[in-house]
Amino acid sequence: MGRTRKKIVFWTAVVVVILFGTVGYLTMGGQQALPARQEILPGVVQVKDGFVGIGIIEAGHGRVVLIDAGNDAAGKVILGEMAKRGLKVGDVSAIFLTHGHPDHRRGVALFPRSAVYILAADADLAVGKASPKGPLPRLLPNGDDHVRITRPLHDGETVKVGAVAVRVFELPGHTAGSAAYLAGGALFLGDAAMISPAGKLLGPKWIFSDDAEQGRRSLAILAHRLLGDPSVKAIVTSHAGALVSGLVPLEDFAAGR
Ligand SMILES: [Zn+2]
Repeated sequence: MGRTRKKIVFWTAVVVVILFGTVGYLTMGGQQALPARQEILPGVVQVKDGFVGIGIIEAGHGRVVLIDAGNDAAGKVILGEMAKRGLKVGDVSAIFLTHGHPDHRRGVALFPRSAVYILAADADLAVGKASPKGPLPRLLPNGDDHVRITRPLHDGETVKVGAVAVRVFELPGHTAGSAAYLAGGALFLGDAAMISPAGKLLGPKWIFSDDAEQGRRSLAILAHRLLGDPSVKAIVTSHAGALVSGLVPLEDFAAGR
């Protein structure tokens, strides 16, 4: 190999490494690791489906509520967790989608008898009728995962499912219809927030989000709305696991601490 050719190969390799490193950091870097399975609170578990978490909440009488349905259309992880508990597909009463991105909804079609909820502003995205707007999601296909929305949700409502009351809050920014759900003492924020390796709540990731700045404002508004609410025991994100210290991480975020 000639000197010039060696140089070209070397610098191409350097560029590729830097490129992959940057994309890797922007997508998966700077965040708390998502555990394979975490019992966050009594009756509230998060399981890891590849790189995305799914919340499983006991709703009484052997029924469960899911927060998102993951990236795996075969639902290996959710169904595995349910089988361990002696539950069947028909025991999922409701699925609450934190937003319409594909990696949160691919398992929905496994549960045809379950109600499926999402904030109205993301309903078209979830059924494949609208395109994602974030810098990276817009480059990826948004197909039809056979998601049927039972009823679009609105900010401020509470949906009762068996013994569980799910409070619905809008958190626009990651997507227009990103939602927070407060259920079983856990505040599920989906992709509207991240958690740093040091356990600090962060805003949504820019590269995946429609408008990360709006997402940060939405989190501050949510902190204000929930101020002093003793029912929040834990905060759960889809890609960076949970923090079990009440509202403190959200309050710290809003205060810029
Ligand atoms: Zn997302």
